[in-house]
Amino acid sequence: MKTYIDIGINLTNKQFQNDIDDVVQNALDADVSQMILTGTSVRNSEESSRIAKEYPGILYATAGIHPHDAKSFDAQSISKLRNLLKQKQVVSVGECGLDFDRDFSPRNIQETCYKAQLELAIEVQKPLFLHERAAFTKFMSITKDYLPQLPKAVVHCFTGTLPEAKTYLDNGFYLGFTGAISDSKRFDHLKEVIQYVPVDRMMIETDAPFMLPKNTPNNLLMKYHERRCEPAFLPFVAATVAQFKGVSGIVVAEETTRNAKIFFRI
Ligand SMILES: [Zn+2]
Repeated sequence: MKTYIDIGINLTNKQFQNDIDDVVQNALDADVSQMILTGTSVRNSEESSRIAKEYPGILYATAGIHPHDAKSFDAQSISKLRNLLKQKQVVSVGECGLDFDRDFSPRNIQETCYKAQLELAIEVQKPLFLHERAAFTKFMSITKDYLPQLPKAVVHCFTGTLPEAKTYLDNGFYLGFTGAISDSKRFDHLKEVIQYVPVDRMMIETDAPFMLPKNTPNNLLMKYHERRCEPAFLPFVAATVAQFKGVSGIVVAEETTRNAKIFFRI
């Protein structure tokens, strides 16, 4: 049977506050069998972990601090994340990394916060869920220092260049792709990236409620006016990957599901 795993959804977003049960059920009905909630701050990671616990074997969570939230990083942050990571539904450290695109937190604070989470991942040996936007050079130079001890890592929502993708692959990372790949106006270059990245090194995600795949039929939108992305739309991300690579949708479903199961140990 064809199943998919959505490695990144933001189920704590207020766009989902009234219909989490339906969103999860619709995803299951669309063969999206497991989903990983992205933790973006200590509070948000706690909330994601709490929701995931209510859907054992279906929902999981990451625990981490997004670079945008690095300004909230304090002396207690790591011990709180460490506690969350003791729970079995909390399968990954992150999301963490650097975002020099919007600079919502000062860059030096982003770097401190990122390094602390790399050290935490080494300590707890759970895989890393990484975020890098417009910060490739600094991101690699920091990450390289930890590389020999690092657990497996995925750079999620990859929208970078082909040379950047090659560097990530050469360093053993996985790449996560969202509906951005179907946005040929903004991200035309991702077709070439997808064609290059082997299927055994890629995972797929919706980043819901963001990044609505362009190939999602309008009649499937539950919140039409918000054009809300949902985990049920993950098959449309897989379909774009299949189209770009010239392989069947079943191959993409099987390979990305297997990668995610091994990577997150779920
Ligand atoms: Zn991210």
